[in-house]
Amino acid sequence: MLGVPRLPNKMPYCASKRPLPYRRGSVQIGAWLFGVLSSELSDIIGFDNQTNRSQPMSANVRAYAAHHAKDALSGISIPRRDVGPYDVEFEILFCGVCHSDLHTVRNEWDLWPTVYPCVPGHEIVGRVTRIGPSVTRFKPGDLAGTGCMVDSCGACVSCRAGLEQYCDAGATVFTYNAPDPHGTAPVTYGGYSERIVVHEKFVLRMPPQLALPAAAPLLCAGITLYSPLRHWKAGPDKKVGIVGLGGLGHMGVKFSHAFGAHTVLFTTSASKIEDAKRLGADEVVISRDEAAMLRQARSFDLIVNTVAAPHNLDPFLAALKRDGALVLVGAPDHPHPSPSVFNLVLARRSIAGSGIGGLPETQEMLDYCASRQIACDIELIPIQKINEAYERMLKGDVKYRFVIDMASLKS
Ligand code: NAP
Ligand code: ZN
Repeated sequence: MLGVPRLPNKMPYCASKRPLPYRRGSVQIGAWLFGVLSSELSDIIGFDNQTNRSQPMSANVRAYAAHHAKDALSGISIPRRDVGPYDVEFEILFCGVCHSDLHTVRNEWDLWPTVYPCVPGHEIVGRVTRIGPSVTRFKPGDLAGTGCMVDSCGACVSCRAGLEQYCDAGATVFTYNAPDPHGTAPVTYGGYSERIVVHEKFVLRMPPQLALPAAAPLLCAGITLYSPLRHWKAGPDKKVGIVGLGGLGHMGVKFSHAFGAHTVLFTTSASKIEDAKRLGADEVVISRDEAAMLRQARSFDLIVNTVAAPHNLDPFLAALKRDGALVLVGAPDHPHPSPSVFNLVLARRSIAGSGIGGLPETQEMLDYCASRQIACDIELIPIQKINEAYERMLKGDVKYRFVIDMASLKS
């Protein structure tokens, strides 16, 4: 998902939401872990007589994976853990294709090296097939969704505030390419697969009012724009800019418009002007046009930048009012060139970042979308077209999110 550095040798974290004492290598961790394994988790742990070690039970499912940064994705069989007491298993019906999938598959983030095989996908929706005995919020047959995270410490200040993506213990478990705390595989495997098993806390209720394929990308693209727009209070009497009309950006335009802000799209693609207006932009500015950028000087309260490549931030800073904020959500493979400090100090402007959204806010966003009939503009593809879809995404040739019809995995 994001270029967040992971803690090396992160401690295993279990499905019980018991706080993890984060003192790596200490006796305390051993005692805690032993206590958990010997009680609550005993029913989901098998015993491997050959290695004499506890092994979680698992079953294999079909998936699509990259085996190397330069290779095309292809079919693979991956293990999924058995359903634990608090787990929900669901059949994946649709999975959105995020630019983060492509960054990860191609090992573009130095801070977050890719472990192969890599099964991407964190805009996952489907139908519940099995639940653990302690699950209260779901039953078989329900619609369900999972976004970019599948676990976190549950005990720190951020987790208790419902901001699990910022877990202070560094224990956010991302949906793919994160060390698998259950040990089912070396890393977590994402939604380009048949089924997934997730702790119920990290499973979202998908509103039946929304078409499921068009709702899938809300779980990353949607919440990644909804959250900063809410946090920085986009609304009436505010002028809000969205930079880049891709998967994230098109949801930024829709949300900013729905919140009542005067919404301006900055784009490098003149061909997207009409679409941007249809999606809710009041104005469109070609960001490569210096004169057009200068005309926007000192006028914005907030600009959210979704661009997936390094670029000059100064023209966007100059477009902010005094006290305005430029919020970066795009996560390019290399840093942006450093902006001018004077662009900050001479108008008390700030540059900030924002990562997806916590679970309560993600559910709030889904319910808001259901009430306003907001969803993503998508192109449905079979999984066999995923490599072509990546190339098209790089060229900006998608309106505005690819979504994989996972039924194609069976063909
Ligand atoms: P996307 O669909 O490929 O859209 C990116 C858009 O950026 C393009 O459509 C294009 O819009 C603009 N762009 C301008 N110059 C570009 C260039 N040289 N290369 C690529 N794009 C360029 O990507 P996305 O799925 O929206 O993701 C955008 C970024 O956000 C990625 O880096 C992704 O990893 C990151 N991300 C962050 C979070 C988070 O929590 N912060 C969550 C998800 C994704 P125009 O044609 O309009 O200029
Ligand atoms: Zn994403």
